[in-house]
Amino acid sequence: MALSQVVGRLFGVRPYQVEPGGGGLPRVPQPVAVVVVGGGIAGMSAAVVLAERGVEVTVLEAAPTLGGRLGAWPETLGDGSRQVNEHGFHAFFRQYYNWRNILRRIDSGLRFLRPVPSYPVLSAEWPTEEFGRLPPAPPANLLTLLARSPSLRLRDLRGMDRDAALPLLTYDPVRTYAEFDERTADELLTSLRLPDRARAMLFEVFSHSFFNHEAEMSAAEMIAQFHFYLLGNPEGLAFDCPDDDYAKTIWGPLARHVERHGGRVVTGVQATGLQPAPGGWRVAAGEGAYQAGHVVLAVDPPALAALVAASPGLTDVAPDLVAAMPAYGRPGPPYAVARYWCDGDVAPDRAIFSGVTRQSTLDSVTLYHRLEHGCRRWAEHTGGSVLELHAYACEPGVPATELAERMRAELTALWPEVGGLTVRELRARVEAKAPAFAPGSHARRPGVRTDAPGLYLAGDGIHTDFPSALMERAAATGILAANHILRSAGAATEPLRSVRPRGLLARR
Ligand SMILES: Cc1cc2nc3c(=O)[nH]c(=O)nc-3n(C[C@H](O)[C@H](O)[C@H](O)COP(=O)(O)OP(=O)(O)OC[C@H]3O[C@@H](n4cnc5c(N)ncnc54)[C@H](O)[C@@H]3O)c2cc1C
Repeated sequence: MALSQVVGRLFGVRPYQVEPGGGGLPRVPQPVAVVVVGGGIAGMSAAVVLAERGVEVTVLEAAPTLGGRLGAWPETLGDGSRQVNEHGFHAFFRQYYNWRNILRRIDSGLRFLRPVPSYPVLSAEWPTEEFGRLPPAPPANLLTLLARSPSLRLRDLRGMDRDAALPLLTYDPVRTYAEFDERTADELLTSLRLPDRARAMLFEVFSHSFFNHEAEMSAAEMIAQFHFYLLGNPEGLAFDCPDDDYAKTIWGPLARHVERHGGRVVTGVQATGLQPAPGGWRVAAGEGAYQAGHVVLAVDPPALAALVAASPGLTDVAPDLVAAMPAYGRPGPPYAVARYWCDGDVAPDRAIFSGVTRQSTLDSVTLYHRLEHGCRRWAEHTGGSVLELHAYACEPGVPATELAERMRAELTALWPEVGGLTVRELRARVEAKAPAFAPGSHARRPGVRTDAPGLYLAGDGIHTDFPSALMERAAATGILAANHILRSAGAATEPLRSVRPRGLLARR
């Protein structure tokens, strides 16, 4: 254990138990059938836990491949080589206790996850700043950041509005939302009176990672995420990544795990509606229908709103769910992912993953030929490189290839050698499926339980009472949904953990 983690423990910075798990039989005593709609992290996490307890679980996934926003699928390039393309680079942070717990089912030592040694932030205006090598636990990580960061000098700290900064240290799952949910993240950051450089280097990359514009994101949500990623966990900002594509390392093994436990994973079948039926639910999908006592809807926000709208039978049994949908179903702004296969390579000292600040489109760049085996093999064979560029909250209505070219031009301004690479192949996408965290949305955010018996929600937009975000929230809500079903059937539930539930300076 690092010294900062020992000190952090004195401040209560350690993993906390949200649900102890257990409390029932190892397997359901009577037959229980569950349909899980959506084969992303949330749906597959629910399915893993349910199948292991003997539940007859069927996962329905609309796409031909599993994974949703962490998906991966085969592509053939113009040169005939087979590559696996992905929905985009993902950082697997170490406080993702529940998601990692699911992944341990397929690799108990998580050996497929490799540490990504650095986390630089690039800017055209200021020198690169490194965030991956801070001490892991607070308060040492925060103090080291303040002492080391050239973006925040002592005189800047004196000029800051320290009262305005206090909420970042006093996160509370009730009070923070009561006081800050109506304000925007932009207003909160402006009120800190940070120098422009500190705001750009320390905050903007962070806030963009939540797929919302600061001016349209709840300040409370920003405080919650600051707590979850920086000030509430003993693991730090360092993260890991799979050493090969997500199909090979995650989705194939997880599907086989569910099937080995008697579950079914059906891809290429879209659920088109659901209605109450004797003993539970009837889910219409593809050409047929699936009957089950319980249903978990583990789809992205626009898909959930569409499914609820196509299910008139819900109006009577789940009026709260129906009422929440118009707002919940409006996603955050579009995000863009562009993967370039190029001739030639960037400079050897470029980091595998870099955040980018203050470019109008580009938010991050990943060197896949230095990350995943499949891309590495292609690069070794051709002498080329595989670059992935992301924009997390971009202008609506711009075609994917146009966004890709804007991002490449912006990267060339930061890394001039990119201009000398010849593009062999491009796969570009733009989508809007991430949850919006609009000011004032917290009170209306749906939770895992709905007002209809036997109908549950899971996904990264679904409310949790404990700190969580993104992939970890998807996994945690999937497990919570499974636990509700297992509890009602008399079977043991799965333990759930999270980080310190309140900020370091929060009142009890
Ligand atoms: C570019 C990008 C980068 C990201 N980087 C990170 C990162 O670094 N770290 C991090 O923690 N998170 C990151 N995320 C967020 C992360 O991907 C999501 O939080 C997570 O994957 C959400 O999982 P989910 O299961 O809730 O939803 P989804 O992954 O959206 O899964 C929902 C599934 O439901 C299916 N579906 C929809 N409608 C139907 C229907 N009617 N019938 C059947 N199936 C249906 C969809 O096809 C999909 O497979 C990133 C996201 C993107 C887009």
